[in-house]
Amino acid sequence: MRVLVLGLDGADPELVDRLLAEGALPTLAGLAQRGAFGRLRSTIPAVTPTAWSSFLTGLNPGAHGIFNFSSNPNRSLSRVESAASRSGAPVWRALGEAGIRSAFVTVPFTYPGEEIAGVLVTGYGGPSEPQITPAAARDRIRAAHPRLVTAHHPMKERWWEDFERFAGLLVEHVDEIGDVCRMAMEMEPDLGLLAVDFMSTDFAGHLGYARLEADHPAHGQAGSGDELVQVYRAVDRVCGELIERARELYGEEPTAIVMSDHGMKPIHWTFHANTWLEQHGHLRYRRRSLQELRRTRLDLLARVDSKLARTSGWYAPLLDRVPGLPAPVADRAFADIDFGRTRAYCFATGGQIFLGEVTGARTDAAYRERLAGELAEIPHPATGEPLFEVLRGSDLYHGEHAGKAPELVIIPRDERVHVESSRRAWPQAFERHERLDPESFYGYSGHHGVDGILAAAGPGIRVGGTPDGSSIVQLAATILRLHGLSTDGIEPPIDGILEAADELRSVAPAAAAASESGVYSDDEEARILERLRDLGYE
Ligand SMILES: [Zn+2]
Repeated sequence: MRVLVLGLDGADPELVDRLLAEGALPTLAGLAQRGAFGRLRSTIPAVTPTAWSSFLTGLNPGAHGIFNFSSNPNRSLSRVESAASRSGAPVWRALGEAGIRSAFVTVPFTYPGEEIAGVLVTGYGGPSEPQITPAAARDRIRAAHPRLVTAHHPMKERWWEDFERFAGLLVEHVDEIGDVCRMAMEMEPDLGLLAVDFMSTDFAGHLGYARLEADHPAHGQAGSGDELVQVYRAVDRVCGELIERARELYGEEPTAIVMSDHGMKPIHWTFHANTWLEQHGHLRYRRRSLQELRRTRLDLLARVDSKLARTSGWYAPLLDRVPGLPAPVADRAFADIDFGRTRAYCFATGGQIFLGEVTGARTDAAYRERLAGELAEIPHPATGEPLFEVLRGSDLYHGEHAGKAPELVIIPRDERVHVESSRRAWPQAFERHERLDPESFYGYSGHHGVDGILAAAGPGIRVGGTPDGSSIVQLAATILRLHGLSTDGIEPPIDGILEAADELRSVAPAAAAASESGVYSDDEEARILERLRDLGYE
């Protein structure tokens, strides 16, 4: 059995449906016709590090522990997350144990890499130059693609200066990654699985919606262009080429799975969650703070200030009364929250609401339900209908890292509303998304949606739709099942798309515990956190 998992990062089901109707995605159309096609639910939060971690391990975020690009310092060590800070066993280990070789090409959150039975090219969520193992593969791939990057990052490439040029880079990258996949297939004649992720569709979605859709509030400012569609077309074409190449090389029909880790919706409104929480008396900021001393000679003082502000009730009110001390800067630090008087705050992406640790709100079930009720009543800025579905962390997450999880998550029913968690003083909680500014959230005009796509065809796959509730966390077990394998302790496969299996062989891969130590130096970590913060990701 040859399995290809072709990841279209952030490919959105509604946009895909539109493009299928126009005949723009022939590879996907072919798979949909010959096999199973439908929606694939992302993790909650529907964010790249979390979703791909669930893809790789078959675990829910409470078990693998990755809820964001960086961790909430109140709930674990403050750090940039990576494959090393994740629990669980990536699916290549179970495959390797069963003697099945695999190649993983630019799949996010695979850095730091490990030796696998096959080829690993690390992806987004690590250094921009991928780490490649084994050495022979590294030398060959580097020789053919000396300037290979995991993804063309929009800020690094200054997308706003020339969007056409940037979109051109995204398309070029798709072809380059496609070629790396072909090289991996040629180097590995016994390959049982090739998994690849194309980040270009994600970035094109974040940046291209305002240019693509005339009803986007920022369309006038952004100008017109169908670059987003061009990138989707390029990925569809390269997926077709890879399926064809697998047929030629291996002399058999591969099982092809095209999937996305989450969807992508145009942003019409932004909801500043912390502004709402402050206005409704759940969150307070400090009036005095030493956080601007961060990364100066007095960094130690800033660290002590942060620690005391986050863990004690007496410190912030005391400091607030000391005249002459600096006020927090406009773009407040995490430790500028007055945790001694804060019962709820939003942190990271995807509407994660954490309840106050110092005030005891975290363990106050009555308060949690009261806040959930208030959040559920927030009206849609245009229609006045209740906007948010309010989910309980205790329903969503289970496992050793459940303590890192938010107590509540708000998901907009209208996904054109983007929930963000910055600590700036916004004049109001809702803002129409009319102005794209690279200084603010990268100038994005699109953001993640909870549903992605799944199309699968070939040996082992049934013809039909995907069952409701099919989720990315089930793909690890699905891949194993296609190889006649099962493993305990991970989420079950998507049975509805699979042909009945013969007897399964059980494998027990070694699961690693999350490492306590960081993989980045202090300087690197500070730089990465700063970048995430610009995005509203920290
Ligand atoms: Zn993604």
